[in-house]
Amino acid sequence: MKTEVLIIGGGVAGLAMALTLGKRAIPVTLIEGFDLHNAAPVLHFGRTAALMGSSIDLLKELALWDRLKDTTEPLKQMRIIDDGNPQIDPVIIDFKAEEIGAEMFGHNVPNMMLQTILLEAVKSCDSIKIICPDKLQSFEVASSHIIATLESGKKIIATLMIGADGKKSKTRALANIKFKENQYGQSAITCLFHHSKPHENISTEHHRAGGPFTTVPMPDQTIDNNEASHCSSLVWVEKTEDADKYVALDKHLFEHAIQKRSRGALGQITLASNPESWPLSAVLAERFTATRLALIAEAAHAMSPIGAQGLNLSLRDVSSLSDIILSALRLGEDIGSINVLERYEESRRLDINSRFEGVDKYNRLVSNNIDIIRLFRRTGLKSLSAIPALKQLAMKQGLAA
Ligand SMILES: Cc1cc2nc3c(=O)[nH]c(=O)nc-3n(C[C@H](O)[C@H](O)[C@H](O)COP(=O)(O)OP(=O)(O)OC[C@H]3O[C@@H](n4cnc5c(N)ncnc54)[C@H](O)[C@@H]3O)c2cc1C
Repeated sequence: MKTEVLIIGGGVAGLAMALTLGKRAIPVTLIEGFDLHNAAPVLHFGRTAALMGSSIDLLKELALWDRLKDTTEPLKQMRIIDDGNPQIDPVIIDFKAEEIGAEMFGHNVPNMMLQTILLEAVKSCDSIKIICPDKLQSFEVASSHIIATLESGKKIIATLMIGADGKKSKTRALANIKFKENQYGQSAITCLFHHSKPHENISTEHHRAGGPFTTVPMPDQTIDNNEASHCSSLVWVEKTEDADKYVALDKHLFEHAIQKRSRGALGQITLASNPESWPLSAVLAERFTATRLALIAEAAHAMSPIGAQGLNLSLRDVSSLSDIILSALRLGEDIGSINVLERYEESRRLDINSRFEGVDKYNRLVSNNIDIIRLFRRTGLKSLSAIPALKQLAMKQGLAA
């Protein structure tokens, strides 16, 4: 079987990549290990992603935003609370989008809705063929194409292959692309929860010894008795052994733990989804390309959820690679050639490297309870509060897309 672009992996990034190309009538084949016709195994009800400007622009371009918008909540304010030591008062700093002339920082989007809407659009796009459940097993490169062999034995010939197969990417391994991996010994607990007090569109990040504890606003939801209830999502980073213990707690004890860590700011807490735990590590590929191959999203870079950069960065990979492919096709170039792939490598290197290093350092800084580091952190937060220009710069950096 022949195709122009072969995409390995049908997570959010692989689906978005397929759609940006498929919508322009480029023949795409997408391979996914899970059965996407019965998508339950890849959907996680309690996980959300804070998406910023360029990610939302991409979803608008794909005509998906109007369908997604009502399930998302605007993030207008970020509150950081240094909670590291119960003996001393916490340092609190508020970042308001209006301080930099913006209406909001972004939107909190349920992963399940994003993936479902993307998948429906991919399924109804005539230029995209989905092969699932199946997996990439091996590939070989010829002068004008790449030949992929799937676990089912199927062979697919493509001009370009895109690896969107996640943090443990087989595509990356088969291409012998080296990567560095930072282990944090941390896991992120995620879930949705209802609360009695409104969130006022404020996302609050508590910095504590095990890692940051962050509540992120969601739209109000109707619950059993037809009453509207306030809702937020949780990203609670802890040492892995502690995270496993919290996830195993009885429902009421877990709710109590959220209430305690959020300092009662959201009132009475009731779980709206089962807590899940995600081991965290950071991965950065040495190169994002090889012969007739490009890596995108977590196959190229994965990081701690702190700062909500991961998926935003991945969707910028999608926009950049699709622009490069489309302009190469307009110029009659071979989209799998070194020249074209080099343009992708160059366009993404600085953005990815700087975010990777920034998030890694930030995660180590805020998850640390050594006295001198805590003092440095508290002093840093106080300085940001006192110097408006510095604070605005920090906000613009966080938003930059
Ligand atoms: C707790 C948590 C919170 C987060 N919050 C945010 C946030 O607020 N904002 C943000 O921007 N990002 C956030 N992120 C990051 C974001 O969720 C990820 O970047 C994103 O989900 C990864 O998408 P992906 O498509 O690259 O990988 P995946 O979702 O891992 O998809 C890879 C797909 O490839 C398939 N696959 C694997 N191997 C093969 C093979 N050999 N053949 C075929 N298919 C294969 C898999 O089945 C899978 O479906 C968060 C991450 C975590 C862990």
